[in-house]
Amino acid sequence: MTDQKKIIVVSGPSGAGKTTVINLAMKRRADLRFSVSATTRAPREGETEGKDYFFVSVEDFLRMAEEGELLEHAQYVGNYYGTPRKPIEEMLEQGMDVVLDIEVQGAAQVRERVPGSISVFLTVPSFDVLRERLRARGTETEERISERLARAREEYKQIPYYDYIVINDDPVIAAEELCSIITAEKCRTADRIKQLEEC
Ligand code: 5GP
Repeated sequence: MTDQKKIIVVSGPSGAGKTTVINLAMKRRADLRFSVSATTRAPREGETEGKDYFFVSVEDFLRMAEEGELLEHAQYVGNYYGTPRKPIEEMLEQGMDVVLDIEVQGAAQVRERVPGSISVFLTVPSFDVLRERLRARGTETEERISERLARAREEYKQIPYYDYIVINDDPVIAAEELCSIITAEKCRTADRIKQLEEC
């Protein structure tokens, strides 16, 4: 019996630990895949083309957006980010669930365009924790950290539009919560009735 495949959107402030939590969740669920975004941001040390992001020029990004290749796209702290549509369709066809790590404007677009998608806001217990994590990461200047914190305050206003909130005090527990959300969503009556009818 095949269950309903899901698109799971995870948003949350920079430094909340989305990447760690998503990676832990993918280890627990073999059928969960990550949607690799396109961005015009420069690669950080250790980031791999095609695994962390597709690093593209502004010109290429705008062409992709124009030609409808992106499921959603947005600007974030001076760079463009977007979700390529085709790989998601392919992963869903192959029977995978797909998780997207995207910011709040993109999440709103997915909510509107993909009925049945799940949205999760992942954050930390306080702004102080966030500031410390961004500093400890050592990838951004103080100015960029301030910009990202200011952005986080704006993002918090979008929390009521999300289906779930996960507070990342401990990444293992946060990943467990994310997996439980996916499991629970698959048990929704409407989805289960469809499954039972197919049998
Ligand atoms: P970072 O530069 O730290 O990798 O990502 C900055 C922000 O961009 C994060 O909040 C991340 O969730 C978001 N982001 C990454 N990929 C996408 C995407 O494809 N679309 C949108 N809208 N946001 C994205």
